[in-house]
Amino acid sequence: MNYRINPRNNDKISLLAFGCMRFPKDFAVCEQMVIRAVDKGVNYFDTAYIYSGSEVTLGRILEKNSLRGKIFIADKLPTFLVKKSSDFDKYLKIQLERLRTDYIDYYLMHMLTSPKSWERLVALGIKDWLEGKKKAGVIKNIGFSYHGGAEDYKALIDLYDWEFTMIQYNYYDVNSQAGKSGLLYAAEKNIPVMVMEPLRGGRLVSRLPSAAAELFSGLKPGNTPAEWAFRWVYSHKEVLTVLSGMSNLEVLDNNIKTASSGEPYELTEEQESAFVKVREHISENTKIPCTGCNYCMPCRSKVDIALCFSNYNDIPIQGKMNSVVNYHSRGGSRRASLCTGCGDCEPRCPQSIEIRKNLKIVKKKMEGGIYRPFGALIRKFMKTN
Ligand code: SF4
Ligand code: SF4
Repeated sequence: MNYRINPRNNDKISLLAFGCMRFPKDFAVCEQMVIRAVDKGVNYFDTAYIYSGSEVTLGRILEKNSLRGKIFIADKLPTFLVKKSSDFDKYLKIQLERLRTDYIDYYLMHMLTSPKSWERLVALGIKDWLEGKKKAGVIKNIGFSYHGGAEDYKALIDLYDWEFTMIQYNYYDVNSQAGKSGLLYAAEKNIPVMVMEPLRGGRLVSRLPSAAAELFSGLKPGNTPAEWAFRWVYSHKEVLTVLSGMSNLEVLDNNIKTASSGEPYELTEEQESAFVKVREHISENTKIPCTGCNYCMPCRSKVDIALCFSNYNDIPIQGKMNSVVNYHSRGGSRRASLCTGCGDCEPRCPQSIEIRKNLKIVKKKMEGGIYRPFGALIRKFMKTN
C-alpha cells in the first residue's frame, strides 16, 4: 500500500480509503473485507450517521477483531438534522456508541452546501463545541464534506481553520463541483483534501462510451478504466486519500492493487491527452455540453449555472429521482428558477451554450410538476432554500 503524510499532523494515511457507505448487507462479508483491507494496509475508513447500519457494522467489526487502534475513522455530523445546540452532543454520542469507540479521528460537517449552511451552525455554537471536543480528545481533526460549486467551496474554506475537507473529484469533474481550482485552493492553505467519487458513482467504469474505453486499453492493455480513473486522482499530490465505496472482495483487491503500485502516478503527456479525449467522448453523450469552467460566473441572481447543468446531465447516470434530490439538496439555493434572464452570462461561455434557454429546460425538468413541492421539501429539510 502506498501512503501519504497529512501535512497538518503527520498521520500516515493509505492512498486508498474504505468508504463504508456501500457495505454489503451480509455482516460476514463486511468483516472479511475490512480484515482483508486492514491486512493489506488500508487504514482510513469513512462512514456517516446517515449511512444506514454502516457505523454499527464498522464498530462491531473493529471491536471483535481488535482493529480500532490500527485505523483512522472518519465520521460525519448530520448537519442538516441539527436543529439546536444540544443536537451536536446527541448525534456524536450515538455515533461513538455505534462505533464502539471513544474518539473519532476525522470528523466532518456532513455536506455543507454554502457559507450560509456553516453560519447556521456557527450561530448554534458549533465552534466552541468542536473546540471543546478537540481539547477533550474526542474529535482529533475537524473538516467538512462538500458537493456544491467551486465559489462556495472556497468561501467555506476561508470561514474556519479546517484541518481537512472532502470533495468529489475525478477526471470528469475537473471543472465541476469544487474541482481542480478548489483542490488547489485548499492545498495553498495547507488543508489536506480527501477525495470521494473517484469513479463518479460508477459512470467512469460501467457507462463509459466504448470509444473512451478503447482509448484506455490502447494506453496499456490490461489496465481497466477503473484503474485509470484512480491513477488520475492519485496523480494529484494535493490529494491525501481516495475513498472507494467497495462492496465485494474483487473490487477491493483490484483497488488495493492500484493503490499499491510501484509505478509513479504522474501521468505522461500521452496519458494526459488520452484523458482529454475520454472527457470529450463522455461530453458528446451529455445533453448540455457544459464543461464546468465557470467563465459564465458570477451570476447576479446567484444561479450556479454549472451545477444546474451537471445535475441535469446526470439524469441518465443517476436516475431522475437521485438527480432531482442532488439538485435540490446540493445546489437548491442556486437553482435554475432564480434566473431572471438578464443574459450577462451567455457572451462569457466558451461553449456558446444558450444558458437561459437551457436553464429553462433544467427548471422544468428538476423543479416542475411533482418536483416542485418535492424540491421545496428537500430544500427545507437540507436547509438549502
Ligand atoms: S441570464 Fe440568468 S443565469 Fe445568466 S447571469 Fe442572468 S440571471 Fe444569471
Ligand atoms: S461558461 Fe459555459 S461551459 Fe463554462 S460553466 Fe458556464 S455554461 Fe458551462
